[in-house]
Amino acid sequence: MNVQKIMVIGAGQMGSGIAQVCAMAGYDVILHDLKEEFVDKGMGVIQKNLSRQVDKGRLTEADVEAILNRLSRSSDLSNAKEVDLVIEAAIENMEIKTKLFAELDQLAPKHAILATNTSSLPITEIAAATTRPEQVIGMHFMNPVPVMKLVEIIRGLATADEVYETIEAITNKLGKVPVEVNDFPGFVSNRILMPMINEAIYTVYEGVATPEAVDEVMKLGMNHPMGPLTLADFIGLDTCLYIMETLHEGFGDDKYRPCPLLRKYVKAGWLGKKTGRGFYTY
Ligand code: NAD
Repeated sequence: MNVQKIMVIGAGQMGSGIAQVCAMAGYDVILHDLKEEFVDKGMGVIQKNLSRQVDKGRLTEADVEAILNRLSRSSDLSNAKEVDLVIEAAIENMEIKTKLFAELDQLAPKHAILATNTSSLPITEIAAATTRPEQVIGMHFMNPVPVMKLVEIIRGLATADEVYETIEAITNKLGKVPVEVNDFPGFVSNRILMPMINEAIYTVYEGVATPEAVDEVMKLGMNHPMGPLTLADFIGLDTCLYIMETLHEGFGDDKYRPCPLLRKYVKAGWLGKKTGRGFYTY
């Protein structure tokens, strides 16, 4: 299937990155969020990233202008009527995602593929909110999107082979590496990563070590480029909590119970880098 126009939903840290890489690969992109100011914020991040590329000599001013010309803004979901592909990157919440997919199903053209960047929620359940489950698929980018090579591609129960192949080809065109996985809670990446982050939080909660010490052990001892608590702050502690809750509920196994300290930070609004405070202060 020929995809030329893409709508990215959610102009937060993931959505703005996805919109940027799609526009850089030559697609026409509509960046959509609930309010214009949220879209402006996402566009500001894209502009900053692109000018950094100019400073490094990787892009010219003319390249940046062409990329920005391929990006348009939206705070009206009915703009989905013009697109071939929607990539949803709104917050990690099943109710919000199923509501969005039911609306998109009504608004987007019949041929359009509806993809979600969910970190952990079942693709099959999101697809069931639409009348086109064979055209619904998981397209799980990593953070920060412009830098990270991996995209986990998750087939829902009904996802058609042709849809999988189209998304795989688009992922390659974005300069990313697609890896196919099946629809189980947390897929592969977060089923392994999040319990490690949660355990790191328990280590602080139980007074075994400070966040700095935990991160230092994992960096110097395990050769991780970034400690788990720094990574949690970058991902967003709200997102980490949602993912742990999804694993806990999805597997029904208490080994996935979220650490009480993680809940406390989220309740306090300490969501990590995006709010200026998490395990560290930014
Ligand atoms: P974020 O909080 O930075 O951004 C979410 C954006 O979605 C916000 O701008 C918000 O206004 C918008 N939004 C919320 N409800 C909406 C709606 N109904 N319609 C349109 N926009 C809406 O979150 P994020 O970190 O960018 O995460 C977005 C998604 O990507 C989540 O599903 C998350 O699990 C997934 N994800 C996150 C990471 C990560 O490292 N942060 C990595 C991979 C996948």
